Amino acid sequence: MIRTIPFRGSRQIPVLGQGTWHMGESAARRADEVAALRLGLDLGMTLIDTAEMYADGRAEELTAEAIEGRRDEVFLVSKVMPQNATYAGTKAAAEASLRRMRTDRMDLYLLHWRGEHPLEETLRAFAELKAEGKILAYGVSNFDVDDLSDALEHPGGGDLASNQILYNLERREADGGLLGFCQDRGINVMAYSPVNQGRLRERPGLKEVAQRHGTTPACVAVAWTIRREGVVAIPKAVQPEHVRENAKAASLRLTPEDVAVLNREFPGPRRGARLGVY
Ligand code: NAP
Repeated sequence: MIRTIPFRGSRQIPVLGQGTWHMGESAARRADEVAALRLGLDLGMTLIDTAEMYADGRAEELTAEAIEGRRDEVFLVSKVMPQNATYAGTKAAAEASLRRMRTDRMDLYLLHWRGEHPLEETLRAFAELKAEGKILAYGVSNFDVDDLSDALEHPGGGDLASNQILYNLERREADGGLLGFCQDRGINVMAYSPVNQGRLRERPGLKEVAQRHGTTPACVAVAWTIRREGVVAIPKAVQPEHVRENAKAASLRLTPEDVAVLNREFPGPRRGARLGVY
């Protein structure tokens, strides 16, 4: 089973979850996608990340199918699009997501990225949804240090539980300061695109570390994203062998020597680098 870490002190979440971007886009692939999510749940990757944006809501509908009969096992995450993130728009979007996912609550609800609507409106809606028990926690995504600092100043900002960000061996801008900023404030970091959307370059050192552990470069890459306390990763995979490999990353302990090899091959950013986005 997959190790868990505390989430806002009161709950535990697995260090590995499952993404759903690009799921629900093709009727022909739907059964395989549902099966992949269910396999991931069986392997302990019980956090599922989705969004109203993905396949125009069809990823949420597919998630409903995957979690049918096992809702209580799952830590369910979805997101409101910035263009919907007014006070009333956020509340309506949450209701629509709950309907599509056929559930009465989300475990975590995120603002997908910062848009033009005032943050105080989104946060006010989040706080109300939380008081009503429709979401159990809320957070943001793609927020760099400046946006996060700003959000923390607003009423309700102190309850931000998570920041979902781009983070992998090739896109490690968050190492420039954001990761530490979140960790210092008890804000969970959720690393998206941990295998760089399948485009991770298999450089010699990465291959060497994988060989040393009898695994694949992708598995090492996922393990690298969760090497720091307070970080969870949400790889998306439909192929069963990918799902199995990703699950194994939770128990792969990289040694300081492994990390040094990877740091040489995938150097960290300069201090204060701006967060990247996909
Ligand atoms: P990702 O998880 O890094 O990569 C997914 C791609 O890599 C798929 O093509 C998958 O193939 C392949 N793959 C997965 N595991 C693999 C393995 N062990 N070996 C080789 N290839 C593997 O990228 P992502 O989908 O962009 O990110 C993950 C999730 O994060 C998303 O699905 C979404 O839920 C979330 N996300 C959030 C944001 C945001 O703005 N908040 C942005 C991007 C992503 P198969 O599917 O064919 O198995």
